[in-house]
Amino acid sequence: MSLIDSLGRPLRDLRISVTDRCNFRCTYCMPKEIFGRDFPFLPRAELLSFEEIVRLARIFVPQGVEKIRLTGGEPLLRRDIEHLIAMLATIPGLHDLTLTTNGSLLPRKAEALKAAGLQRITVSLDSLDDAIFSSMNDVSFPVHKVLEGIDAADRAGLHPIKINMVVKRGVNDHQIIDMARHFRGSGHTLRFIEFMDVGNSNGWRLEHVVSADEITQALNALWPLEPVAPRYSGEVAQRFRYVDGQGEIGIIASVTRSFCGGCTRARLSADGKLYTCLFAQKGHDFREALRRGATDAEIEEIVRSVWRPRADRYSDLRGQETTGLGKVEMSYIGG
Ligand code: SAM
Ligand code: SF4
Ligand code: SF4
Repeated sequence: MSLIDSLGRPLRDLRISVTDRCNFRCTYCMPKEIFGRDFPFLPRAELLSFEEIVRLARIFVPQGVEKIRLTGGEPLLRRDIEHLIAMLATIPGLHDLTLTTNGSLLPRKAEALKAAGLQRITVSLDSLDDAIFSSMNDVSFPVHKVLEGIDAADRAGLHPIKINMVVKRGVNDHQIIDMARHFRGSGHTLRFIEFMDVGNSNGWRLEHVVSADEITQALNALWPLEPVAPRYSGEVAQRFRYVDGQGEIGIIASVTRSFCGGCTRARLSADGKLYTCLFAQKGHDFREALRRGATDAEIEEIVRSVWRPRADRYSDLRGQETTGLGKVEMSYIGG
């Protein structure tokens, strides 16, 4: 039975952040000036343990959750993450188990992730040019190592592989074509993401956003595209296929074509707070319930009491009522 919010949206996806730490300092996500040496990352005891995460997942799945995505921070930094995957993979009714990573640790981890039961993977890569990529990840991480990570995921069979590229005007927008050329025909789906105003620290301005229309027009001029019907209602990416048969691309137009009407996602932070919107200001504390000894039935009731009144539609309202809100950071609740 589905759990429906106040706008008629079921709870279908759960994104679980397993750490708020990262080995990158992407300027649009964890800018160095804020996430520096003194940043108060969560101490280990405050993170949900694997057992706590799995207990919550087992309670969420019967409420309608079909898909779980592990994220962060950088999820592969969480020690023994494959043990968590192996535990989650046994949950009956969970159809889709995936993970989003910056790819840096994939050469070492891809096989173990697959063996543990991870089905597929999304790897973030913003440019094929080392100078641009370095300036965006801000830790001089080279492109070739992320490409090696993608190849390792491919060899391990973590299919289908999606590549996420956040497009920021004046920074990497001239890389759209190079990225598309590289991944055309590779079997992997490149997804262009409009730069979003998540958190309070990334200096977002509307001028930095390259719209979905601009992106598709630029690509279509070189390689004609045709739209692909959504696989399911509420699919976040708009999909297009190259008419010449060289595969698909996706566009996540959260700014210029918001999709709150079909938003079925909840996000669990690494310290166990549940957020019903990427732009929420406050989450509901499930760790407190877990650690005070609440029963499964009690926790299930909390899930229902949080989801039922949900009315979030930040992106639909963007610019109207949302300026100046104290939002949480993406590295904390996961993308
Ligand atoms: N560290 C992992 C990674 O980078 O893939 C997982 C966490 S990251 C927060 C998840 C996704 O959010 C990444 O694809 C990242 O590029 C995207 N992201 C982060 N900040 C963003 C922003 N301001 N606008 C759009 N996408 C963003
Ligand atoms: Fe780290 Fe991912 Fe955020 Fe980049 S986007 S800083 S890799 S969490
Ligand atoms: Fe969902 Fe909030 Fe994003 Fe709208 S703004 S799509 S409600 S996460």
